[in-house]
Amino acid sequence: MDIRPLGIDPSQCLIGANWTAPHGARKLPLINPSDGTPLCDIAAGDAQDIDAAVAAARAAFEGAWGRATAVERGRVLARIGQLVLEHKEELARLEALDVGKPYTQAMADVVALARYMEFYAGAADKLHGETIPYLDGYTVYTLREPHGVTGHIIPWNYPMQIIGRSVGAALAVGNACVLKPAEEACLTALAFAELGRRAGLPAGALNVVPGLGAEAGAALSAHEDVDHLSFTGSVGVGKLIQTSAAQNIVPVTLELGGKSPQVVFDDADFDAALPFLVNAGIQNAGQTCSASSRILVQESRFDELLAAMSARYKALNAGPALDDLELGPLVSQRQKQIVEGFIAKGSDLELAASGQIAADAPAGGAYVAPRLYACADPDHMLAQDEVFGPVQVVIPFRDEDHAVAIANGTRYGLVASCWTRDGARQMRLARKLRAGQIFLNNYGAGGGVELPFGGTGLSGHGREKGFEALYGFSTLKTVAAYHG
Ligand code: ADP
Repeated sequence: MDIRPLGIDPSQCLIGANWTAPHGARKLPLINPSDGTPLCDIAAGDAQDIDAAVAAARAAFEGAWGRATAVERGRVLARIGQLVLEHKEELARLEALDVGKPYTQAMADVVALARYMEFYAGAADKLHGETIPYLDGYTVYTLREPHGVTGHIIPWNYPMQIIGRSVGAALAVGNACVLKPAEEACLTALAFAELGRRAGLPAGALNVVPGLGAEAGAALSAHEDVDHLSFTGSVGVGKLIQTSAAQNIVPVTLELGGKSPQVVFDDADFDAALPFLVNAGIQNAGQTCSASSRILVQESRFDELLAAMSARYKALNAGPALDDLELGPLVSQRQKQIVEGFIAKGSDLELAASGQIAADAPAGGAYVAPRLYACADPDHMLAQDEVFGPVQVVIPFRDEDHAVAIANGTRYGLVASCWTRDGARQMRLARKLRAGQIFLNNYGAGGGVELPFGGTGLSGHGREKGFEALYGFSTLKTVAAYHG
């Protein structure tokens, strides 16, 4: 297939003003997970390319981009958002082919990317410091300043949304960015960088170097001239990134996934809850950091809810991304093997229901049928470990304390929800559940441009999305002026 995102050669990097081949001219094949065929080659950037990209970012930070006013930065972001919408069909198709995401879900990501640009365009000139009352004869104020060069290492599951929330916020503050997309899916990152150029981002304000994690990613996270790192991905790589950040004493934002629960009490509106309970598990074939993979249900209505969820599961189909069924393939055969490994370890659980793989789905695609398990043991591996595939467990609980103990009983803490009509219980649960985002009588897997997002425990630390992200992508300077 001849893939040229917005007309550019996908085996190139954007470093400074120009699209260039990586210095070693090495390439990596990009595979279409819907059928296993090659899509195109992408650049295999390495430490030398990262050096060049960081130098270009530094020059932009000390040059045109660093001098741009907040209003000017906001206008560029607004133009990028506009261009994203003008190219939405092409972007959605690229993401669907690359990630294996059903087209409608890919289109939702395009719209979210545009929203991030709109949000951060509007926010750019609203970040400001404060004046602080101090000693007689002083005026003290704070300045919110960009870090400088920010490194962004992103995963393959939601490239556009994660670029939007991380690069969008960093640019709004005035940082110059180096983006290392995932080797499994990087086409929309390339397209985004090209739209940035067309929108008027000065050379070097955004650089993109695709490549292997252990090469380009490791080089970016260890680079001594990078002032801030943001990473979304696995816990294992998150530890490496934090270790690299420690070597250079730079701040790091980590978003590392979760095992997010939805707690359903016996007074809940089941009809309202059902679509959220299931969709939050199977959206993007379960490859969502904030997927809800644990459904906790009060014992008295456990059988009823399990039956209702099972009925929905039986109607789910997985097929090629452009066929736009409920699920696409997983991103790769490797991811499929990982998920099948988990499924094998769940063979002692009761399989309540599963969906199916469409009969005409290509044999070379990375398809996994969605599975719903009843699980009485909250410590079971499938109830504790992040599967990153379309697998949900339904766990019974006795009462509120029991529910909170189970919900908080993993090492993750990204998102949690509570379904109940009892307002006082909603307030208690919102405080007691250990997670960075709590939803009451709803659930937002992956959404919420305006809503601060991030985790605790193994889910990571720092907050992205919303206005809050601007604090993370900026640093505070205090100025104390003595004037007598
Ligand atoms: P997954 O296991 O879901 O593929 P990873 O955490 O491995 O998630 O990948 C997320 C991002 O981290 C990707 O861009 C990947 O290339 C990058 N990455 C992987 N290994 C490293 C590493 N050692 N150092 C820096 N980045 C890495």
